[in-house]
Amino acid sequence: MSEAKRHAVAAATVFDGWTTHKDAAVVIEGSRVAGVFAQSELPSGLEVCKLPPNAWLAPGFIDLQVNGGGDVLFNNAPTREAILAIAAAHRRFGTTAFLPTFITDTPEKMSAAFAAAQSLVGDAPSVLGIHLEGPFLSPEKAGVHDASLMRQPGAEDLDMLCGPRKGALLVTLAPERVPQGCIARLAQSGVRVSLGHSMASYAETRAAMAEGLSGFTHLFNAMRPLASREPGPIAAALESPNAWFGMIVDGFHVDPAMLGLALRGLARPMLVTDAMPPVGGRQSRFDLYGAEIRVAEGRCERPDGRLAGSALDMASAVRNCVRMLDVPLEDALRFASRNPAEFIGLGHLLGSLRPGYRADLVALSADSLEVLGTWVAGKENGPS
Ligand SMILES: [Zn+2]
Repeated sequence: MSEAKRHAVAAATVFDGWTTHKDAAVVIEGSRVAGVFAQSELPSGLEVCKLPPNAWLAPGFIDLQVNGGGDVLFNNAPTREAILAIAAAHRRFGTTAFLPTFITDTPEKMSAAFAAAQSLVGDAPSVLGIHLEGPFLSPEKAGVHDASLMRQPGAEDLDMLCGPRKGALLVTLAPERVPQGCIARLAQSGVRVSLGHSMASYAETRAAMAEGLSGFTHLFNAMRPLASREPGPIAAALESPNAWFGMIVDGFHVDPAMLGLALRGLARPMLVTDAMPPVGGRQSRFDLYGAEIRVAEGRCERPDGRLAGSALDMASAVRNCVRMLDVPLEDALRFASRNPAEFIGLGHLLGSLRPGYRADLVALSADSLEVLGTWVAGKENGPS
């Protein structure tokens, strides 16, 4: 077999997920990164794509919470085609891999969503698996989820979730709403379990973490708040170096001061969008559980004003992280790539530009942090 063709992408600054290299180039061989080299060391004859002056090159963004994009809502169309349309919509914002996220719905639709995602894992490189946000949640913290569809996990659910599967499976649940031992069984099957839409106390959260819960979904939103005599899940998350938390940095979901506080904790932050159909789409309204959601001034809102996901894309999340939270760009890029990759057990393959990693890249302009290009598995703007 002939050696895969090599080419390179050169930028003023290459952040490889760990360190920053000036005047460097990422050499790509087939779908993998061969290495990061000084531009002056590149062999002559190598095909080099040179980015505009001052551009940054970084690991592609990995978004673990994507409800929709490109005018498609996964819950309304739990199909392969919908997932691919969502992938394409988000790619222009630097997302090279993601978990299509299916929120609380009927068992039949959940099974269809699960099967659709399974059929794409290994086929479409950007589809890493699925995030099931619900239905094992607390009606007390339903947010825009339909509380009437929330339920306890049954034997059939656990058979599906714990059975053989391809790719990553992230389940957001309310620990106080599932039987004891359920989280342990999921965790032992390789499922990443994340707390969300929950009224769990601090003690209940600690017990869930002892069973294997390691994630916190959109920290602060739809969970028991921090309080003096009941620290709740937020304190339990932030004191743990082995916890990961998603944050929606759109300026609406959480006050930047609270996110700044979270960043001073020990847990590992991940940027997520919680994106809805308008991201990368043309329409400013969509349907959720039969109710119309409108997008106005960057917010997705129900008629009663409740937030219904976000209109955020990953490039904007990175920008907001730098501008609203005063986070160094390298850290924001890590929150958008390496941290989520590590959380779902793919830190050996994604989220870094070290040799052997999949060549998923995003190029950003220096000042405005606009996306100049994306590469998925070594191909520019290429495959889903
Ligand atoms: Zn949610």
